[in-house]
Amino acid sequence: MAERYADVIVDISHEKVDRPFQYRVPPQLLEAVYPGVRVHVPFGRGDRDKIGYVVDLSDRADYPVDKIKDIMAVDEKGITAQSSQIQIAYWMKRQYGSTMIAALKTVLPVRRALKQLEKKKVTACVDAGTLQDVAVQCEQKHQVAKARVLRALAEDEVLPYELIRQKLNVSSATLLALEKQGYLKTETEHIYRNPVKRVEGREKQVVLRDDQRTVIEEVVGDYRAGRPGTYLIHGVTGSGKTEVYLGIIEQMIAMGKQAIMLIPEIALTYQTLLRFYKRFGERVSVMNSTLSAGEKYDQVSRAAAGELDVIIGPRSALFTPFPNLGVIIMDEEHESSYKSESSPKYHARETAIRIASMHKASVVLGSATPSMEAYYRTKTGEYKLFEMTKRHGSSTLPGVYIIDMREELKQGNRSVFSTKLHDLMERRLEAGEQIMLFLNRRGYAGFVSCRACGHVMKCPHCDVSLSEHRGGRLVCHYCGYEENRPAVCPECGSRYLMGFRAGTEQIEEALHKEFPGARILRMDADTTRKKESYEKILEAFADEKADILVGTQMIVKGHDFPNVTLVGILAADLSLNQNDYRAGERTFQLLTQAAGRAGRGDKPGEVVIQTYQPEHYSIVHAANQDYGSFYEEEIIYRSFMQYPPVAHMMAVLVTSREQQTGKELCGQMASLVKEMRDSRDKDGGALQMIGPTEAVISRINDQYRYVFYVKHRDYEELVKVKDRLELFCKEREKELHNLTVQYDFDPINTY
Ligand code: ADP
Ligand code: ZN
Ligand code: ZN
Repeated sequence: MAERYADVIVDISHEKVDRPFQYRVPPQLLEAVYPGVRVHVPFGRGDRDKIGYVVDLSDRADYPVDKIKDIMAVDEKGITAQSSQIQIAYWMKRQYGSTMIAALKTVLPVRRALKQLEKKKVTACVDAGTLQDVAVQCEQKHQVAKARVLRALAEDEVLPYELIRQKLNVSSATLLALEKQGYLKTETEHIYRNPVKRVEGREKQVVLRDDQRTVIEEVVGDYRAGRPGTYLIHGVTGSGKTEVYLGIIEQMIAMGKQAIMLIPEIALTYQTLLRFYKRFGERVSVMNSTLSAGEKYDQVSRAAAGELDVIIGPRSALFTPFPNLGVIIMDEEHESSYKSESSPKYHARETAIRIASMHKASVVLGSATPSMEAYYRTKTGEYKLFEMTKRHGSSTLPGVYIIDMREELKQGNRSVFSTKLHDLMERRLEAGEQIMLFLNRRGYAGFVSCRACGHVMKCPHCDVSLSEHRGGRLVCHYCGYEENRPAVCPECGSRYLMGFRAGTEQIEEALHKEFPGARILRMDADTTRKKESYEKILEAFADEKADILVGTQMIVKGHDFPNVTLVGILAADLSLNQNDYRAGERTFQLLTQAAGRAGRGDKPGEVVIQTYQPEHYSIVHAANQDYGSFYEEEIIYRSFMQYPPVAHMMAVLVTSREQQTGKELCGQMASLVKEMRDSRDKDGGALQMIGPTEAVISRINDQYRYVFYVKHRDYEELVKVKDRLELFCKEREKELHNLTVQYDFDPINTY
């Protein structure tokens, strides 16, 4: 019988996750040893009896067999909280393809070597009116951080210190200065931990609507009946989803359970946080990327010790080790930030479902524009769907105009602004209302289209846009198909066949020229490089210090500007013609969200969508805010081309120092997959392969990149392919230094 070997990490809870040691699993323990189990092993020179965790199993010895010691016994205490985290890491490693160490590092918090964090609260010492006055003075002196604290305290007399530091991004020096001036005081731990009153509760009393109550009752009812499930709430922004989340969490807490509330970092606004603090007091905590490793560890310890009921945060908050997890809620589940960009390239949605099933917990997903994945699974019956179609209160959906830019060209208008948009902007400027202009520059544009007829150059095999490369080659980044850029449009013969180039900066220039006197703010990767600048720009716009905000997709998320009554989407085609299969979905989401920015106050809003493909279903259905119709058309395309969610797709990316070796390895791996494909039965559901080819960015940091894609209806089949490829690489480990192989399942980006 084949030998079994186990990778064991000794003292996992101490130092940062370290290299594992390999041990032999003796025959009598074969059944009892699996990832996550605690075992006794002989360690070091004196073979001292140490406790360790099994993190991985294999049939191969990594060392000479006679140097490998035996596991002595399985620890009686067997399974601990850490065990279940190791199990998740093991699952992720297998599911997404990564090393076990990388998976463990994702899942386990790094132990800190820092001093104990103090828990503090900040209390206002003067009345709200005075705070507001001082805030105005500070703003005049450009002391924006001070102004932020003062305004927050004017709204709520007592605030948690960590909330001010983290979410309001205010330094301790600033707080100290304000304390010296007598506007506030900071008090430490035990006072905060045993508060007579919570964060000053002026929580708005809401009586839930019937549709909201139904969701809460079903989710909690299923849970009580021992049938935890996965649910999708499809509800437009403002339909009251957050109220539903709060309601579900409240009932979970009443049952002694804890909740993980995932919110993409960019959508985690101060207002949202405050709603959770007001409802659940100091038993809520926040995770975000600005926390140091030590602060994160501290949060995790508090959660493990039962001091918290709710943790709010982005993707990584998923791994909070609650003792009695009841529910994981994922707001804006369609957001691409839920997918990790580094190995293991896990998706928080699937991982949440896995974690929940281990804890017999429920998962609630919410979105105004659900991902194709989630909605598809409501159709297959894996998830339960709730529709919340009403917007709460009186604000109505905006009027939307789709402007055909081909017509503008015919009329002789070569400006980036259509006549309609130009007119509407002028009216807004006269009326003193605000305008948002949105230019989607996400990722890689590079497509080539005809300005006269709208025709887009596409790959004949993959049905995605071709990207223009230097020298006029048009390339498909899935399969490597190439053709020369034609001189005239193959559809209509026009000479206006060109790449699309426009940036926010050019828009800003054009605005200055066409609307002299208008006050303009620009928000893009360049203007938001500094840490606080993102919030500063939004704040300035909210304070109506500008008439027009121009920006990339950053500006469409989460923020309410009641005075914005016009939203212009300058080039809807930029996202429509990205070189990957999610382009249509992304466009629909962005347009729907952007349109949702107009008319959030009492004044009705208008939206102008400028495009060369006015009849494209993503654009038409977004203009009508009609998710259902969009889904129906998009799923036909996915199904026809065998793209996710109907099938699954795995990207295999090889990076190398030397171009030739990387190209070779990628080619060899692809051949191996071809062999696997051809050796199978000729049944319909077989493997499909695309590539290999150079990556979109063929070289980063002097590393050459080659890629190929494999598709299959069954995810498990792709896992098998990945396992086989991993083995192939492991056998060649010695030749393959300076080469890395990464796997990405159901990729969000094109490599
Ligand atoms: P979403 O999370 O779907 O964007 P919210 O839960 O934030 O929606 O609700 C939008 C606004 O409507 C919030 O100010 C919220 O307090 C309010 N609201 C939601 N449901 C009700 C209700 N049943 N009664 C009164 N106000 C409500
Ligand atoms: Zn044409
Ligand atoms: Zn192709």
